[in-house]
Amino acid sequence: MKIVKDFNFKNKKAIIRVDFNVPLNANFEVTDATRIQAAKPTITEILAQGGSCVLMSHLGRPKGFQEAFSLRHIVKSIEAIMGCNVKFIEDCIGEKVEAAVANLQAGEILLLENLRFYEEEKKGAVAFAEKLSKFGDIYVNDAFGTAHRAHASTTIIAQFFENNKCFGNLLAREIESIDKVLNNSEKPVLAILGGAKVSSKITVIENILDKVDHLIIGGGMSFTFIKAQGGKIGNSICEDDKMELALDILKQAKEKNVQIHIPVDVIAADDFSNDANIKICDIDAIPDGWEGVDAGPKSREIFDTVVNTCKTILWNGPLGVFEMESFAGGTIALGHAIDTATKNGAFSLVGGGDSVAAVKQFGFAEKVSYVSTGGGAMLEMLEGKTLPGIEAIMK
Ligand code: AMP
Repeated sequence: MKIVKDFNFKNKKAIIRVDFNVPLNANFEVTDATRIQAAKPTITEILAQGGSCVLMSHLGRPKGFQEAFSLRHIVKSIEAIMGCNVKFIEDCIGEKVEAAVANLQAGEILLLENLRFYEEEKKGAVAFAEKLSKFGDIYVNDAFGTAHRAHASTTIIAQFFENNKCFGNLLAREIESIDKVLNNSEKPVLAILGGAKVSSKITVIENILDKVDHLIIGGGMSFTFIKAQGGKIGNSICEDDKMELALDILKQAKEKNVQIHIPVDVIAADDFSNDANIKICDIDAIPDGWEGVDAGPKSREIFDTVVNTCKTILWNGPLGVFEMESFAGGTIALGHAIDTATKNGAFSLVGGGDSVAAVKQFGFAEKVSYVSTGGGAMLEMLEGKTLPGIEAIMK
């Protein structure tokens, strides 16, 4: 696995695929610059060696050239984070870009316009990738968020660099962190899978059963497992067509000696709203008209004990409807448990969409060992897939 450190960037141009797909408000200001921050170490290291950086990224889902999706809007944020000027060019291929790249001096940063203004990017067009490849001596992929896509800038471009290609520091850390959980883990290993649906996590569960000693199944997913075993779940969310599968997962877990932990009690609400009436119920005795929206107090205690007996912890998906303050308690309690376990030497990795939002919202991002930056990419790695963007660098 080649990384930035393996190259000498002095007087070289690095063409870096970053993930600057950041949220913007109505005034086109960046509202969360985490992804720009995350790309900083790679850029800084290359500039410090006397290289220059050509940055390429996508932003949103534009249909052709659309000013609203221009990367021009984020130049100021990048400058603030990098502490230096950033040149911007209003295209990502063509003569103007060629000239701007040719004029780029050591120590300078050039940001190209949104790659997805060209449909060739998502199509993974070889000719488009080849044009991009002319803008750098060394290709660096630091965009974990798009590593599961075989797009021109994330995968196809790599073939034009033979040996001159590597992972950026962010992507390298993502790969190492997931490897530390899936392949080089200290036992006991625990995975916590929450969130809304079993269907979106099945492949993850199946792959992970071979890797873990404990599996906590929480959130909306748990009700499919409870109903499948004959429990009464009231109006809680459930995927009836996945009940067979849930039973099969329980059977597989038993065969593989994996201990499964499902909430034993829940906070039930009589309405899907923050000011609904609530009561605590056993998870398999929820009255009609009530739905389980968070893990109950007994479950929180049990999960705390499980978390604190494990040395490697993976967390994907909230334990309740954490977006509503009244139903965030279970997710927050889990965050505290993981915080304590991490302080006591466990390795904890949080990743995949909503759990990242939750750990940030509740202040746990600094307390866990690693927070992954890629939602879909992380899930695909947990499913055991080889991501095209990673494979292209390894080749
Ligand atoms: P996912 O994207 O699959 O990780 O699901 C995250 C979503 O699951 C969040 O928006 C939560 O509000 C939701 N969720 C978690 N627990 C429940 C529950 N008991 N009932 C309904 N939705 C839930």
